[in-house]
Amino acid sequence: MSDRAGTDGPGSDTKPPALLTVLSGPSGVGKTTLAAQVRKAHPEVWLSVSATTRTPRPSEVDGVHYFFHDRPTFEDLIAKGEFLEHAEYAGNLYGTPRRPVEERLDAGQPVLLEIELQGARQIRASMPSARLVFLAPPSWEVLEQRLRGRGTEPEAVIAKRLATGRDELAAECEFDVTIVNTSIEQAAAELARLVTAPAPRR
Ligand code: 5GP
Repeated sequence: MSDRAGTDGPGSDTKPPALLTVLSGPSGVGKTTLAAQVRKAHPEVWLSVSATTRTPRPSEVDGVHYFFHDRPTFEDLIAKGEFLEHAEYAGNLYGTPRRPVEERLDAGQPVLLEIELQGARQIRASMPSARLVFLAPPSWEVLEQRLRGRGTEPEAVIAKRLATGRDELAAECEFDVTIVNTSIEQAAAELARLVTAPAPRR
């Protein structure tokens, strides 16, 4: 793991924990699996449930994996300022409902967002004390294999996600910390350490 924020872990700094952690990285890199793993070990970390206009995958449950909305409903929520951040990704809208995140942060609970690059940039701008974590694949070939291997998207969608993935990989330098997803256990341990570490210096 490389840590641009210059933190050495819990207790190395007198600053309070960065309560908000943003996990980003290209589609297929393993963000969802990693976030679920961290939650299992640290149930006190609250994982935001995003809203999207994407069609649910067969295993996905409304209100658990996402809040699934049609586009007019989603656009109405944008207009009402209901999202902390939102972005269009591979032809669909995604956004983080604002209120539940703010409530948890106000209560002092660590919050984890699993979002793509444009959303991460919006959080950086609006909440500079957030810690931005980039999850990188061990190689481009591994990313491609994972995205195709999970079999959840048609080829045209995979191609779109891979094209976006190239831009996302190029933005790694904007993040405080990079974790390379070589092994899920090791990556989850690194992320778990970060969600309780002092806030990055700005
Ligand atoms: P998927 O369709 O594979 O579930 O998600 C596609 C991309 O959207 C992933 O990179 C995922 O992290 C991102 N994403 C999920 N929820 C949000 C959100 O609330 N905001 C933003 N900006 N991206 C999101």
